[in-house]
Amino acid sequence: MIAPGSTIGILGGGQLGRMLILAGRSLGYRFHVYEPKGPCAAGMVADLEINAAYDDREALRQFAEGVDVITLEFENIPAEAIDFLNTIKSVYPGREALHICQHRQREKDFLKASGLPCVAFEYADSAESLQTAIAAIGFPSVIKTAAFGYDGKGQIKLSDPVQAADTSALWRLLGEPPRVVVEKWIEHKGEFSVVCARKLDGSMTTFPMAENIHVNHILHASIAPARIGDAVKAEGETLARAIAEKLNVVGLIAVELFLNTDGSLIINEMAPRPHNSGHYTIDGCHTSQFEQHIRAVVGLPLGSTELLRPTVMINLLGDTWSQGTPNWSQLLADPLVKLHLYDKGDPRPGRKMGHFCVVAETVEDALAAAEKQFASL
Ligand code: ADP
Ligand code: MG
Repeated sequence: MIAPGSTIGILGGGQLGRMLILAGRSLGYRFHVYEPKGPCAAGMVADLEINAAYDDREALRQFAEGVDVITLEFENIPAEAIDFLNTIKSVYPGREALHICQHRQREKDFLKASGLPCVAFEYADSAESLQTAIAAIGFPSVIKTAAFGYDGKGQIKLSDPVQAADTSALWRLLGEPPRVVVEKWIEHKGEFSVVCARKLDGSMTTFPMAENIHVNHILHASIAPARIGDAVKAEGETLARAIAEKLNVVGLIAVELFLNTDGSLIINEMAPRPHNSGHYTIDGCHTSQFEQHIRAVVGLPLGSTELLRPTVMINLLGDTWSQGTPNWSQLLADPLVKLHLYDKGDPRPGRKMGHFCVVAETVEDALAAAEKQFASL
């Protein structure tokens, strides 16, 4: 066990790191953040922020020597950096989980090899092989760059053969990546997610399944409890636990799921870190996903994940700032609203700037109140 008073190192400096630190502080831990571009949202609440590249060995060494354990809030950390840090201090969730989750091809291969449900897919590494892959998958489908995509970036949806006629043009539009995955587009009944925490000793907890609403491929709202039957919830938890175990995760893993028209769940993707769809746990659950992650990586017992009240989380993207700073007083005039801002500065469209949660007696009331508040911002 890494005792309170110790220092936890975090790779990545975004809002997920910031909320990890805010949760870990109340347990008495100190935090150092490693992020190439500063000043960053996590660094502002850390004891120390290091701004250096992920291939700067000297900076990595100093970071590792200054902390007791290392974790991350961003999965696209180069494997070489993780391997190097691991020679000095333990890094959680660990290389294998990270290596698989940071690349869509490895992720899909892992799911398939593990017998876990995922969408039909093919790979391509050129305009020519893209043509073959699209022909095999059919329409509608979606092309996704294998690495570095998030919030729908690096994706092209294909509705019909006309759109796929010129694969050289598509390949250029994708930025001529080393590799893409072509997936069947699932006409799903809904999107859900389960965040699972696992410790080195194998013990696990899952948070209540969230129901997620995406707008323009970016998460807009998470609803807990999910408005779906108990059997589906149980199935989602089983899948998340199976993945956490197979990947030997220490910390959190979030599993994004589609609900198929036949009622079965299909795994979309995984993230070995706190997840946007788990932000509702700060205000809705006895233990938040962020506190649970800290507990898991330092080896403390895991807390209760019980949902105390129906909770709806709404993301605040930079778009909400288009008419100037939103009227926070008006939002907070509802005493059941909890506001979380990430202090990120420039509110570019699509950039995650904050979120708010509404709790209520029923999930319908929480959702109606949250959407009404969002519309009036
Ligand atoms: P990101 O890394 O950007 O989150 P995702 O693969 O999760 O990438 O895609 C973002 C969103 O796009 C999903 O949450 C879903 O709404 C939609 N989407 C992606 N792939 C599919 C698919 N195969 N079928 C249906 N919807 C999809
Ligand atoms: Mg996703």
